[in-house]
Amino acid sequence: MADTALRGMVIRTVDYRDNDRILTLFTAEQGRIDAKARGCRRTTSPLLACTQPFVYGDYQLFYHKNKYIIDQGEVLESFYPLREDVARYAAASLCAAACLEGVQEQQSSPEVFSLLYHCLSYLTYGDVEPGDMAVCFLLRFLSLLGFRPAITHCAGCGRDLRQDAIVRFSVERGGAVCTACSPIGRAADKTALEAMRRILLLEDDQLARVKLKPALRKEVFSCLLPYALEYLPGIRKTADMLLGLESVSLGQS
Ligand SMILES: [Zn+2]
Repeated sequence: MADTALRGMVIRTVDYRDNDRILTLFTAEQGRIDAKARGCRRTTSPLLACTQPFVYGDYQLFYHKNKYIIDQGEVLESFYPLREDVARYAAASLCAAACLEGVQEQQSSPEVFSLLYHCLSYLTYGDVEPGDMAVCFLLRFLSLLGFRPAITHCAGCGRDLRQDAIVRFSVERGGAVCTACSPIGRAADKTALEAMRRILLLEDDQLARVKLKPALRKEVFSCLLPYALEYLPGIRKTADMLLGLESVSLGQS
């Protein structure tokens, strides 16, 4: 048995038995960690607050029979207002689902953690569109994982596409492609590709600046989402939830 102190965010909760819960914590230094929280769903449990979805906190764990068990926890940030807005909650859930699938155990991921922390902060407290934050997160998350889509140069032949009248977007090829490499199919919106290029140039603390018009957001999603699902099929449920919301798909808020 060994005691461990971790700082991390709850990216998944799975309830079991009457009052217990398994948490998946995402930590900047050690990636994903599953830990049991016994009795945490009792209203009198000292673990009740720190075992909620999206809580960022300090946790004391002990290791017993190949499992981490949460002994104590302190909430540093609850992101509580997320629970009061279905679109923001859905976008945050999409970010968490992507981390659950894309971040491995024992994988130091400070840049991914920073991205998640910033996106959740903006979704909770910022003047942002949930769909825009989902776009920013997915695009930058895929890039950090090494799956950055081609945008300015053809994924097939490497040619500069910025003067081309027609460009396509191919999930199979890895992003934007010229018409010679991909002769058939729908043309990609070049403004959407430019928006993606610019989002990748920002710092995490500049993401609240991203304000896509509804039609443009839809175009970006039409390229980005099939591409993201290729690498992160586990995000489909949360992506469908987010895009199924009228306020997100039509850009009202
Ligand atoms: Zn080409």
